[in-house]
Order: sequence, then C-alpha cells, then structure tokens
Amino acid sequence: MTEKEILLSSILSCSRSVLYSQEWSLNAAQAKKLSEALSLRSQGVPLQYILGETEFFGLTFQVDERVLIPRPETEILVEMVLKSAAGQMKILDIGTGSGCIVVSLAKFLPEAQIDALDLSLEALSLAKENALMNSADKNINFIQSDLFSVFKKNNLNNRLRNYDIIISNPPYIRSGDINGLQKELAYEPRMALDGGEDGLDFYRRIIAEAGNFLNKEGLLFLEIGFGQRENIEKIASLSNDFILDEIIKDYSGIERVMIMRKYGKVGN
Ligand code: GLN
Repeated sequence: MTEKEILLSSILSCSRSVLYSQEWSLNAAQAKKLSEALSLRSQGVPLQYILGETEFFGLTFQVDERVLIPRPETEILVEMVLKSAAGQMKILDIGTGSGCIVVSLAKFLPEAQIDALDLSLEALSLAKENALMNSADKNINFIQSDLFSVFKKNNLNNRLRNYDIIISNPPYIRSGDINGLQKELAYEPRMALDGGEDGLDFYRRIIAEAGNFLNKEGLLFLEIGFGQRENIEKIASLSNDFILDEIIKDYSGIERVMIMRKYGKVGN
C-alpha cells in the first residue's frame, strides 16, 4: 500500500480492501485533508505523526511530536522480555516514551508490576493515554525521572531495589550523526534520539546504576544501535555488575538486543 493509500484509508476511515474494491470519492473537506497531509509528508513529517497513530506488537499507539515513533525492531526487545518474564514480576522501563514497551508487556503479563520512567512529562502523558486506550493502565505506574534519579531523591533506594527486570531502549544516535540521517528524524524529540558524542552516554549511565535496583540474577534488557555491541559489552564488563546473557539480532541481521544478568557477587 502506498503512503497515499494509507492516508486515504485513514481519511475515509475505510480498510484497504474497500479502497480497492468499492467506489469512493472525497468530499471537499476530505480532499483538503489529503492535500494537507501530502504536503506535510513532502516536508518530511513522519507518516505516523500525520496519521496520529501507529501499530506496535499488534496494538495501536497514539504518536505525535512528544514521543519517538515505536520501531519494529523494538518488538524483538518485547518478545525477549516476554520469554523470560512470568507472573508477578517487578519490571522497570527506563525512557518509556510512547509507552509501547510497557503497554505491550502489560497486555501479556497482567500480573506484573510495571514502573515506567521518563524525563519528559509530555511523553508520560501520552504514554498514560496509550495505556488507557489499550486497557493496560492498571498495572503500570508512570513516574517522571531522569533515569534512576527519582529513587535516589526520595531515598527509596532500598525499598525499590527489587526489580526482576530492567528494560531500556535509550537514545543511542551519536549527536553529530542526527542531522545527516533521514529528514524524518528532525521531527522526533531530540532527547529521544541523542545518545551523546559517541551515542553511548545512556548505556554508561544505566549500566553503572541498574545493578543497584535489580534483584540477584535480575535481567537487564537493552536495545542497542548498529555497531555498538562491543563497546557496550566493555562498559558492562568494567562495571563488574553484569554478565552477558544473550545478544539477539534483528531482521536485518544487526545486533539489536543485549540481555545481561546481574552478577551474583558474594554478600550482595
Ligand atoms: N521506549 C520507547 C520506545 O522504545 C521510547 C524510546 C526512546 O524514546 N528512546 O519506542
């Protein structure tokens, strides 16, 4: 289906098959909508923002300029978490954005207790709407926090030091690369993309602290960017907190998800 057809079926609120098999016409308002949408698209506004929604893990999510558009690769991260998770686990998602990861998990793990952190209040409010829209709001807590800062600020370190699983798909593009990539990226929140000079800032910060908030043998699931695996593995081995459990490639054969296990040090 071409982008024009996708926009058409959205404007006409009809399915693709109707578009192909039945007579239809646009009234004046719909025609105006279509030409506005096509013009936004030609300026580089991502199709998903124009439609106002996207599909992820078989669910519908609202998306706009407040959040990163969920990527199909991230579904692999969700699948891997679902393989390891069960029952009443405590799960933390760092940088929840649209909420695509936590909402998908909540649908399949209705007994899990999930905390979803984001620094952006705007993102959190959209993530909450997405949870509500997918009837997954009961077991997710949305909390504003710059990574783990909320736990430290409130001195809740000990109480909260008991996640079974920590997940993050952090910003991982090198600052200097962002402008040279697809023009669509300019419309997504910079803070959701920019991983600092070498793209690895958030991996360093997350790996340095995640061990303090995981149970023994707890798992850390990270989405990673092209060519970053080796450096992240180094960061992890220097931290002495984690051992590498598994690396999963995406559909293009790129190493995309790293699973690390908290190292059960004596006395920890
Ligand atoms: N967790 C969200 C996602 O995977 C947002 C990630 C981000 O903004 N870097 O799509």
